[in-house]
Amino acid sequence: MTESLARHLACIDCGGRYPLGYRLECERCRGLLELTYDLERLRKEGPALFSGTGLWRYAPVLPIADPAHRVTLGEGGTPLLDCPRLAAQLGVRRLLLKFDGPNPTGTVKDRSSATAIAAALQFGYRATSVVSSGNAGSSIAAYSARAGLRSLIFAYERASAPKLLHMAATTADLVIYQGVYDDLITLWDRLVEERLFFDCGASRNAYKQEGKKTLAYEIAEQTAFTPPDVVVAPVAVGETFIATARGFREMREAGWIPRVPLMVAAQATRANAIARAFRDGTPIRPLKIGYTVAEGLAAGNPGKKGEWVLRLLHDLKGLAGDAEDEEILDVQRLLARVEGVWAGPTGVATLAVLRRLLAGKQLDPAQTICVIVSETGLKTEAELPSRQGTAFDHDSLRRLVLERLGSA
Ligand SMILES: [Zn+2]
Repeated sequence: MTESLARHLACIDCGGRYPLGYRLECERCRGLLELTYDLERLRKEGPALFSGTGLWRYAPVLPIADPAHRVTLGEGGTPLLDCPRLAAQLGVRRLLLKFDGPNPTGTVKDRSSATAIAAALQFGYRATSVVSSGNAGSSIAAYSARAGLRSLIFAYERASAPKLLHMAATTADLVIYQGVYDDLITLWDRLVEERLFFDCGASRNAYKQEGKKTLAYEIAEQTAFTPPDVVVAPVAVGETFIATARGFREMREAGWIPRVPLMVAAQATRANAIARAFRDGTPIRPLKIGYTVAEGLAAGNPGKKGEWVLRLLHDLKGLAGDAEDEEILDVQRLLARVEGVWAGPTGVATLAVLRRLLAGKQLDPAQTICVIVSETGLKTEAELPSRQGTAFDHDSLRRLVLERLGSA
């Protein structure tokens, strides 16, 4: 089936309902909006609703009505990797990695870019824009190009070189901004109101966020609808976390899964406004932040989305944590060596947070734990190993092989 079962936009604060249109906030209370679906159909027909592969397999639970608008570069359908060696190292019974690096531009953002750009087509826009630390920029630029739309991409001045190259390749309109995400996003969000471009930001667009819900649907299908006990998701402003939690909730309400996994919100310590508020039981106090190696998590003021994350953590009895840059880089190396998964620092922050929560005995290691690793390591900027080459003859080559592997 390819019919979308989306029915309304609903305000998460006052419950106000709106027809499916391009609307970013509740008219009455300015609350954020979320999409609602025909749960009765979901309940009745079950997962047999889905057909095909990749992200659009989940078209019935996505808000794009016309199949002609469903732009794709082959996103979704990423692996759920059982990681027994890493699990042993961390002292966990079973560790699953939802690795989103294999997406077309190397990140989870491709899920939200697919539905964002499809929505831009659905609502008749010719241009898109986003403020990005690198991943969202290259993803939105690529999907805009694929759909024949212009994209105006604002990129973080400290974005890694591979991310900048990727953005420069996929859009003619790349603008580098000074400072961090927080320094531009408020100004840019005000321009969204003028509708000069389609909003591809993470602050308010329910259509964009919805693409990431497919993470939950994939994890559920890949575990035969007995999802893991715990899911650790990255949080900058909260889009991936909220969307994943929404997906699991929807499936529980439709009776597809028995319960929503314990959701863990993972942040970088240098941008931990939400984890702090959770720990202290206070409202979110925006942070003035600097650089973190987890570039994609470098947001100090998560705004209303951050409040939504806190609310979900409360409702779902979840957990939040953060990890220092050094811990993130350490776990990045560990994951590559132990499991062969080369992921970027933004992507492995979840794993570093998991390690901390286990050390602090905040999580039960006897559970099945799933960690979302949101980006490839191929866009990481880091110091190169030596390029000093060695010239060999037969004897020296043989000697080296014996030295390295002789006792293997
Ligand atoms: Zn409202």
